[in-house]
Amino acid sequence: MKKTFVTKEKLEEIVKQYPTPFHLYDEKGIRANVKELYEAFSWNKGYKEFFAVKATPNPFLIQILHEYGCGCDCSSMTELMLSEAVGIVGEDVMFSSNDTPVEEFQKAAEIGGIINLDDITHIEKVEQAIGHLPKKMCCRYNPGGVFRISNGIMDNPGDAKYGMTEEQMQEAFRIMKAKGVEEFGIHAFLASNTVTNEYYPMLSRVLFELAVRLQQSTGVKISFINLSGGIGIPYRPEQEKNDIRVIGEGVRKAYEGILVPAGMGDVALYTELGRYMMGPYGCLVTTAINEKHTHKEYIGVDACAVDLMRPAMYGAYHHITVMGKEDAPCDHTYDVTGSLCENNDKFAIDRQLPQIEMGDLLVIHDTGAHGYSMGYNYNGKLKSAEILLREDGSFEMIRRAETPKDYFATFDFCDVLKNMKWQ
Ligand SMILES: *Cc1c(COP(=O)(O)O)cnc(C)c1O
Repeated sequence: MKKTFVTKEKLEEIVKQYPTPFHLYDEKGIRANVKELYEAFSWNKGYKEFFAVKATPNPFLIQILHEYGCGCDCSSMTELMLSEAVGIVGEDVMFSSNDTPVEEFQKAAEIGGIINLDDITHIEKVEQAIGHLPKKMCCRYNPGGVFRISNGIMDNPGDAKYGMTEEQMQEAFRIMKAKGVEEFGIHAFLASNTVTNEYYPMLSRVLFELAVRLQQSTGVKISFINLSGGIGIPYRPEQEKNDIRVIGEGVRKAYEGILVPAGMGDVALYTELGRYMMGPYGCLVTTAINEKHTHKEYIGVDACAVDLMRPAMYGAYHHITVMGKEDAPCDHTYDVTGSLCENNDKFAIDRQLPQIEMGDLLVIHDTGAHGYSMGYNYNGKLKSAEILLREDGSFEMIRRAETPKDYFATFDFCDVLKNMKWQ
């Protein structure tokens, strides 16, 4: 059974102060998890996690991770600005973007971040942006084909827009070396939300072998390998959680089997995890406000797909707990819906749940990554607040909910707004 990290009593206390819907984050869980991650990779001297900002772009949460040594993985102007605003700059920033505008290369260089090139043509773009190439740079690899682990195909890099071929990596490294780059990194992201301990070790073998070939063929100094994101979380109750220690050990074996014999035992390992760092430590709290009995049984809640898009976008499963009814029989079949004029605005379809009464608090699990951040304003819906449940049981609003004034803010050229009475 999947448990909530917050009790019903605590939630009722929070709801008195902050109305639903909101995303709630678990400081205790975030801290324990990042500690465990660093322990699992402590055998590698230069190991560093660059938190994928896009997963949960909240400065309060990023600051917690920074206490443990995490940097930021950014891929847009505002993500770079956010990182800079929380004081994460220099080589604590990895800029892993694609289809990149020149100004973003400029900003990344301005704050001293490590630029990860998605394409060979971006060498010139960086020169155009800042007049030279930084001393330390990275290139993103795409092996093409399908990516397999022992029990089947994981993903399809051949269809992915990201990264360069091996030949392009070779050529890029030669060109960059000739233009003064001194330290090189290799990056690849080949599969997403992997709920298996095999992904990182498999990916490491691919990247470590590539690193050896590239070092031998181009003579460049490869100083880091970035395993990027992709470690997943068990969204479904029957799934088993990844064991980060087993993953760390698997990567160590590959490192000692491939890099060390090639004289590359000083290569630092980087990760850019997003989902794994925050996913389970956030939930969406919402209240049942309508029920409807037609051809099916519907429970309408006060959150909608703008608060959590994954079910609508990917048909993703998010577990739901009806607070206070954890032990009640799941003898009702409901569609749990939001209010958008979109039939895919459903947090659950044909879900077995206990009987839900109006006013019940529902916790939608595992929304800590790619949850709030994917939100949007369709139907003029406003984005929710974010609240942090502290380790000592206190709670704090770490982002306020949007108001109509925020929604209309981009019409600031328009006279009608001058007479608007803001709620
Ligand atoms: C999205 C992304 C990540 C994080 O992915 P997760 O699945 O959240 O681990 C890391 N690096 C890059 C370049 C990404 O685009």
